[in-house]
Amino acid sequence: MIVITGASKGLGAAIAERLKSKDKIVVGLARDTSQMTIDNVACDISSYMAVKNAVREIKKRGECLEAVINAAGVASMNMAVTTNEKTVQHLIQTNLIGTIYCCQLFAPLMLRQKYGSFINFSTVAVALALKGESVYAASKAGVETFSRTFAREMADFNVRVNCIAPGPIRTDLLRGITEEQINNIVSQQIVPRGFGKPDICDLVELLLDDKSASLSGQVLNVGGI
Ligand code: NAP
Repeated sequence: MIVITGASKGLGAAIAERLKSKDKIVVGLARDTSQMTIDNVACDISSYMAVKNAVREIKKRGECLEAVINAAGVASMNMAVTTNEKTVQHLIQTNLIGTIYCCQLFAPLMLRQKYGSFINFSTVAVALALKGESVYAASKAGVETFSRTFAREMADFNVRVNCIAPGPIRTDLLRGITEEQINNIVSQQIVPRGFGKPDICDLVELLLDDKSASLSGQVLNVGGI
């Protein structure tokens, strides 16, 4: 069984669809699960108790937990000085703290079976230090550092932890970002392919496969930086 947070739309939904097409058992998490067609549990990952309850619910399914893909995330593209207090808290609480909750609370299921994999989501905005994305990038920089360190903590239990840092991909997340900002990001990438596609799914499949058994603690910047 593979748990995917943020599976109600965007990248999480695309990954869920891909993995389902490969006969994986998938459970999706999101706050609003009303439109989801896959097995799901409604969960706000920014709440410790909500994640705890989701873990309990998923445990009841009695399946071996192969992986947790933490795709849930929020963005707000603003200069730091014009980002209000509520937005700062929302970004850090969801992107960083929510990802940490999902890792620490799902991990015991993998430790017991001595097998598993976490894939967390960052962004190229961290490596590129993109102007106008400081708080968002800071929340994701935390995800990267957490993932690299968590990978060491999990290694003795045969559990791998990696991070995917996508470039721009057309989803609702990018609604507030201008073409100029997108072009600026793309122009700094080694492989300047413009908007990415959910070909992120190929990378997810590789990271879940034993072919990548020696990859852990890595941040993979898609497009190259
Ligand atoms: P998206 O289309 O906006 O989807 C975000 C998903 O996260 C939705 O399913 C949303 O569902 C869920 N979510 C948000 N807050 C949540 C919460 N508190 N608890 C549970 N679920 C929550 O975004 P996306 O483009 O697919 O992004 C996926 C990941 O990739 C994010 O971490 C993002 O930062 C990262 N990323 C995306 C891009 C890009 O260009 N798209 C680039 C770099 C990195 P609900 O609202 O129903 O909860």
